[in-house]
Amino acid sequence: MTRAASRAPAARRAEWVTRATGLHRHAGRRAGTVDATTASDPAAVFAVLRSASPAAVDVFVHLLTRGPTARIDVARATGLSQAAVTKAVAPLVAAGLVRGGGAPAPGGPPGRPASPVRVDPEAVLAIGVKVNPDEVIGVVTDLQSGIVHSARQDVDDPTPERVTEAVALVVSRLEELLGDRSDRVAAVCAAVSGDVDTASGTVRESALLGWTDVPLGALLTEALGRDVLIENDVRALTIAEHWFGVGVGTGSFAIVTIGSGIGCGLHVNGQVVEGAFGVAGEIGHLPLTSQEHVCTCGRRGCVEAVASSSAIVRQISSARGAEVTMAEAVTLAHAGDAAAAAVFDLAGTVIGTAIATVANLTGPEIVLITGEGVSDYELFDDRLRAAFAAHAFGAAGECRIVLRPHSFDDWARGAAAAALRAVVLQRMVGGSAASHLLRAQPQE
Ligand SMILES: [Zn+2]
Repeated sequence: MTRAASRAPAARRAEWVTRATGLHRHAGRRAGTVDATTASDPAAVFAVLRSASPAAVDVFVHLLTRGPTARIDVARATGLSQAAVTKAVAPLVAAGLVRGGGAPAPGGPPGRPASPVRVDPEAVLAIGVKVNPDEVIGVVTDLQSGIVHSARQDVDDPTPERVTEAVALVVSRLEELLGDRSDRVAAVCAAVSGDVDTASGTVRESALLGWTDVPLGALLTEALGRDVLIENDVRALTIAEHWFGVGVGTGSFAIVTIGSGIGCGLHVNGQVVEGAFGVAGEIGHLPLTSQEHVCTCGRRGCVEAVASSSAIVRQISSARGAEVTMAEAVTLAHAGDAAAAAVFDLAGTVIGTAIATVANLTGPEIVLITGEGVSDYELFDDRLRAAFAAHAFGAAGECRIVLRPHSFDDWARGAAAAALRAVVLQRMVGGSAASHLLRAQPQE
């Protein structure tokens, strides 16, 4: 049993609200058979990943993000020779991370090409957790970001200690659900909203959690006994889209999340933008509205100060002289209540202006709008698009605005993708994922 599991008292386990979702395979993936005769040894897999050459990492990332590919096409895409691809793939195949690419089966149809090379999605798993003020949501995903299990744990009071306990409970529950397969979990990533220093694993500032300079990475490596990554939640979502979503085949895109905060993740010229200080794309705090609006960050005039769900509720409550919930605010706006409609209109205008600002600065092909606020998106839509069109400069306005329904599990799935990326790129320098994965202390 793992340390985390052994620490979870049985009585507390009973409190869990969990959902085992079963194994969801990607559409089009090989129908669910795990080849037991070639099942990979997790220790060998992790060792190969840690020692992979840059060429092997390139090939592996290509297969991971593009799916099964013939060797000749891998060579074209990565700029390597076919011989170099074969050399790069050999240790990955030996460890069971990659399969196929062999000669055609004897007796098969003449002229049939060698089978494409593909990643075994079961070879490595990752755990992602999203830390909210009232709950921790966790998922286990396979190598291609398919959710295997999920679990959640309520948090009464989001102190660093209570959140650490809740994350440990969620991880231990996921390990139980995985059983023997929990030794395939390569790392755990916790996604937190706010200013996160991934290099040190420190949450420098999170208004949502009320945290300043919390060493969450150190707390979690100690509590879990596993390698840990701490990541900004929107950047984790951007990493997931980069490898497994709209970013595949897209050089530059942005994600804008609408909900309890207004977040933005940037992917420019093939790279997820991290910035020199770990803060980039904070469109929620662009000063695009009047100074009378005070933001949760303490500054004035921020986008979030009028467009976050709490800001919308606050403004409509204030206009009516009575507290309303978000659901009531939405109903009022749909029913034509002028004050409620004006608040949503302002939010849409300010978000649209912020998106135009992002487009003017970074030139994305696509802006993906997602987040829990997207369910009420029709209330923002007209004003948002009008403001975008009014402020996007020249060809920047050609970028497509795409909506994506979003569940809270998606945040945790983003965190798991960030963990996978850190594990796969751990030898890379420059991309610097290497320094961001915090190593668990060897256990006695
Ligand atoms: Zn702000």
